[in-house]
Amino acid sequence: MPHLEIHKFGGTSVENAQRLAACAAILRDAAPGGRLIAVASAVAGVTDQLVQAATAAARGERDAALGIVDALGARHASVLHALELKAAEAAPIRAYIAETTAHLAELLGAACLLREVSPRTRDQVLACGEKLSVRLFAAALRASGVAAQAMDADTFLDTDDHFGEANALAGIADRTVQAALEPLLAAGVLPVVTGFTGRAPDGATTTLGRGGSDLTATLLAAALHADEVTIWTDVDGVYSADPRVVPEARVIRQLNFREAAEMSYYGAKVLHPRTMIPVAAHGISVRTRNAFAPEAAGTLVDGAFTPGSHPVKAVTAVRGQALVSVEGKGMAGVPGVAARVFGALSDRGISVTMISQSSSESSICLAVPGEQAFPAEAALKKSLRAELSRSDVDEIEVRRDVALVGVVGLGMAHTPGISARVFSALGARRINVLAIAQGSSELNITLAVAGPQADDAVRALHAEFGLGRLDTGEDTGRRLDVILLGCGRIGRALAPLLVARRTHFFERFGLEPRVVALADRSGYLSRPNGFSPEELDAILAAKLAGTAIAAQPGAIAASDPADVVRDVLRWRLARPVLVDVSDDDDTAAVFLEAFRLGCDVVTANKKPLAGDIARFRELRATAEAQGRLLRAEATVGAGLPVVDTLEMLLGTGDRLVRAEGCLSGTLGFVMGQLERGVAFSRAVAEAAELGYTEPDPVADLSGADVARKALILGRLAGLASADQPVVPRPLVDPALAGLPLAELLKKLTTLDAGFAQQVEAAKRDGKVLRYMARVEAGSIDVGAMAVPVDSPAGRLDGTDNLIAFTSERYATRPLVVMGPGAGIEVTAMGVLGDILRIAAERR
Ligand code: ADP
Ligand code: ASP
Ligand code: MG
Repeated sequence: MPHLEIHKFGGTSVENAQRLAACAAILRDAAPGGRLIAVASAVAGVTDQLVQAATAAARGERDAALGIVDALGARHASVLHALELKAAEAAPIRAYIAETTAHLAELLGAACLLREVSPRTRDQVLACGEKLSVRLFAAALRASGVAAQAMDADTFLDTDDHFGEANALAGIADRTVQAALEPLLAAGVLPVVTGFTGRAPDGATTTLGRGGSDLTATLLAAALHADEVTIWTDVDGVYSADPRVVPEARVIRQLNFREAAEMSYYGAKVLHPRTMIPVAAHGISVRTRNAFAPEAAGTLVDGAFTPGSHPVKAVTAVRGQALVSVEGKGMAGVPGVAARVFGALSDRGISVTMISQSSSESSICLAVPGEQAFPAEAALKKSLRAELSRSDVDEIEVRRDVALVGVVGLGMAHTPGISARVFSALGARRINVLAIAQGSSELNITLAVAGPQADDAVRALHAEFGLGRLDTGEDTGRRLDVILLGCGRIGRALAPLLVARRTHFFERFGLEPRVVALADRSGYLSRPNGFSPEELDAILAAKLAGTAIAAQPGAIAASDPADVVRDVLRWRLARPVLVDVSDDDDTAAVFLEAFRLGCDVVTANKKPLAGDIARFRELRATAEAQGRLLRAEATVGAGLPVVDTLEMLLGTGDRLVRAEGCLSGTLGFVMGQLERGVAFSRAVAEAAELGYTEPDPVADLSGADVARKALILGRLAGLASADQPVVPRPLVDPALAGLPLAELLKKLTTLDAGFAQQVEAAKRDGKVLRYMARVEAGSIDVGAMAVPVDSPAGRLDGTDNLIAFTSERYATRPLVVMGPGAGIEVTAMGVLGDILRIAAERR
């Protein structure tokens, strides 16, 4: 069989001469040598106006009805005029417009007298829109050099006589369609077929329901075994939500037939609800494209299932529904009530759009189109009269102005926890769910909400599932995506740990961590699908060898790390976590941005948590409001479980009285050496030699670092809620900062004697000198002090850290956490531990 394509054009695609010419050009350039069929809708707005005219006629408003008909005649005549056809082409169409308007005037005039428009007459009226448009379109095609002929589907597309919502007659329709169109195709003529219309068994004109031209196209495709269908409309394809409601909605590249069917059934106006039925069985693909932007790829609908980066593909809404609930304790266990309810509705041709039954069987809740609420209520009261009188059924309640919001995606069937996310996203925005139904196919979840909340609900769900973000094209179901801020020593230690894939807990959660971005002060590299371990190695090795990230291939220069977060989170990442292992920049603003964009944060960087208290509170409040996590174990005591222990105490209802201890490995080492009789300047020199100090040891000796840790501890414990400055008692004059090491050490010799004296004095009292931090309600004290030799801090040696928690529960003997509190490996481990906790929370 030679290639055959069906192209359907919506109302806006044929609304004026310019559009008609553009669509004619699309067909002229399509499938060279192949066979084409066009299906056209009525000119935009025309069907609505015909509906108005029919409604006016049914009320006997003759002037109104005929006024609309006149205007329609004039509108089509003006399009015809603008087409600038040759006289011989234009004349028969002009005559057809006149004939049609006269016919409409006659039909509607008669209806005005009767004050009634029967469904049959109404279909005859509505079909005129398409009959007019195909003639204009066929003429435009001929004018552009394509042999084309207008065809009225009400002469060959056989349907039942369900006027207003007719169904094609399977098999029979195929044969008549073939008989009507194949001779034209064989003669090289392009048929331009009226969409939306069909022929009843008695020959009357039927319509397929509003938006039915899409269905005409797929019916023809199935009847003629077409290779594909293109639906040309006024948007770039099928969006993840109605773009008028959700501006950040995105075009979906590919949909399975069932997903597309579900979306259109639940309100995505872009396709008629029954469009997919004829083609799905034959596997004929349907592409939705923008006639105003034919270069865009559009959405492909076919039999494939691409999981994409998220199981949820779209959110839809059908408005103007009514929710009917039938309730009664006597219904439980009584067979047949449900059958009677649905029987009563179907007898009256009322279509049920959603069903939900409570598991106790004491209520049935269903949705019907708003205009059928009253007939539905009447039908149910009649049919359940006996139950109502016996009080087996207590009441039949109708709630109007309800919308059905649908979450659609085939991948949902394999993904637990979608409904939980649906409810929490709606709950967070105070949207009340009136009823819920999940199809047994788990292809969708449908929720009834109050009409005025529908837009909010759609937006909330669209955001919850990240549908406004770019699809990475990969199933991200089990991933945990890390944005790594800082490629220094800790970053270099952490990255390989993360992607080594042998971490016990990740395995237990079935999660696979990946690094999706790497940033330093110069810029960043990103890879939404994750860097391979080899790539990570290479980048970090180059960085170590002195090549800043921005200078590496493919990098983006950026001075503000918030840019990294914004850029990377344009993608739909899985469980994104920003990990800040950068050195001492205040990144609080970056954290706030991360929270707003739906990212959790782990920090080893102390600055953002040790700024002013208002900023700290804002961080916590924003995380809370956005439902995000902020973890900072590595800011105090590196990998030691300090914050963890604190959270455990507070979480189990204990009240903290005091946290005190030694929070600096460097100063611990210096103090230990002093105790052994080593001179102060010598002890500092040794610490520097061993790499225990910051490049400038004054940074340690000033106590500023300890003060920051103490402040963070105080804030996390809720003991430092005011904006109290922590002024450490420095071991050396902070003004010495910046001196070359040798010079500094020389200056420090002047302090040797003083320290030796202090050590001696302490010893006489059975004490030793320690650099301590003490956090209590309302006070934070940081400085050197003498402590008993046999106290926990007194027994400490070397670079170990120690934190003693005194609480209501640990009142007489403190709870002590002790161990190495500095070093690259243990800090990286502390960070990894936080990432694991987030994984546990988000799995
Ligand atoms: P046509 O006349 O071409 O058939 P329709 O008006 O019937 O066009 O359908 C296209 C319109 O559907 C778009 O302009 C858009 O506003 C609306 N729409 C609703 N939901 C969606 C969605 N999920 N994706 C795309 N468009 C949608
Ligand atoms: N013209 C009809 C309508 O507006 C059919 C269609 O556009 O598909 O509903
Ligand atoms: Mg449409």
